[in-house]
Amino acid sequence: MSQVQGAAAATEESVSSESGGSKYTRNNPYYSTVMENYRLSGAGSEKETRHLVFSLAPEMTYAPGDAIGVNPENRAQAVAEVLASLGFTGEERVLDHYKLDICFEEALRTRLTIGKLARGAIGQYAKLPGAAGVGGRGYAELKLLCGPENKARAEEYCWGREFIDLLTDFPGVVKSPQELFNVLQRLVPRLYSIASSQLVHPGVAETSVRVVRYDTHGRERQGVASGELGERSHVGEVLPVFLTENQNFKLPEDASAPVIMVGPGTGVAPFRAFLEERQAKGASGDNWLFFGDQHRATDFLYEEQFTAMQKAGTLTRLDLAFSRDQKEKIYVQDRMAEHGAELYAWLERGAYFYVCGDATRMAKSVELALLDSIAKGSNCTLDAAAEYLATMKKQKRYQRDVY
Ligand SMILES: Cc1cc2nc3c(=O)[nH]c(=O)nc-3n(C[C@H](O)[C@H](O)[C@H](O)COP(=O)(O)OP(=O)(O)OC[C@H]3O[C@@H](n4cnc5c(N)ncnc54)[C@H](O)[C@@H]3O)c2cc1C
Repeated sequence: MSQVQGAAAATEESVSSESGGSKYTRNNPYYSTVMENYRLSGAGSEKETRHLVFSLAPEMTYAPGDAIGVNPENRAQAVAEVLASLGFTGEERVLDHYKLDICFEEALRTRLTIGKLARGAIGQYAKLPGAAGVGGRGYAELKLLCGPENKARAEEYCWGREFIDLLTDFPGVVKSPQELFNVLQRLVPRLYSIASSQLVHPGVAETSVRVVRYDTHGRERQGVASGELGERSHVGEVLPVFLTENQNFKLPEDASAPVIMVGPGTGVAPFRAFLEERQAKGASGDNWLFFGDQHRATDFLYEEQFTAMQKAGTLTRLDLAFSRDQKEKIYVQDRMAEHGAELYAWLERGAYFYVCGDATRMAKSVELALLDSIAKGSNCTLDAAAEYLATMKKQKRYQRDVY
């Protein structure tokens, strides 16, 4: 498992390796210029999804299924809040993870996770020499969030909270900026599926980024990387990026093989790349895309392009599931179930089946729908369907990139 995966990108099946054939890596990123950054989701959508285009160095190459890594920065306001809460100016000197002498403000902005609070950070915070004299809720309460016996309570506390909340609830602990390197995790890169084919878009990598925003415990929060990409990465800005290869999420070598792609929300990104690539190469295999989101009017990402691909015959089938356009919710797995017989017929023709997007619920429901289609199609038990799927996996005909 690469360093990036272990840290930022916990996909269960993807095997990533950094670089994309170039010298640029997480620790030696390419300073890419943002060429385009526009909103994909329409006005009134509950979600903000944006299309970002990054310039690449000539030697940076990728294939559909690969991702681009971004080394993010914490937003200035979040850094300023932490500094104010700690009573430091930010000009203090600290040694970073590589013993590089930098100012504390830079460390908070570029090196340390001051966003989403981790349970481990509370334990480390409580071990600092100043913890015994903690203010606010007091030492006894802080201790109640530490240790394996308090795991559930600590997890509940961490939910929707950031480092600033810990500092506010339990102030006066940190006596020196350097101590935070023992408390906070490293700020790690975030990966984004590449949404373009390099054959069609030479010199750039395109992405579809959902901007994470939420309100918890009386504060307005923002995802570190998606907030930066969505709000502060205007055209012309320069950002540190690198490519990561995903050998386990690749188009079939056989251009005539049919392909079924299930990618709701930003999960559709790699499939735009797949389709562009197959179209550019004139691949003869059929392509079937399942896409879904909340509302057709505002959330049909790449509608024009997919509709044009359908007209051109590249997209053989397009099935859509807009969950909130009717009383009962309809998801991609429901559309799969509706067309189970045909889906099974495609599998019998040797189709490759791909899923991308939400790992917690969507990917599991999609797998169940797939098993159900196989069981019904072949008139077998679910156990036998699971074996069928296991064989597909071995043949690399069932590939998932879920996060
Ligand atoms: C292989 C791979 C490919 C990916 N491709 C894409 C892609 O194409 N497009 C895309 O947009 N993303 C993609 N991601 C996800 C992306 O890497 C980031 O994880 C995502 O953008 C969030 O990062 P962030 O820094 O903005 O948020 P973070 O600062 O990491 O914050 C996210 C965390 O905030 C918390 N949170 C979020 N919402 C709430 C809420 N409502 N209430 C309480 N807490 C909440 C959760 O704990 C969540 O884990 C991919 C991930 C992987 C691993």
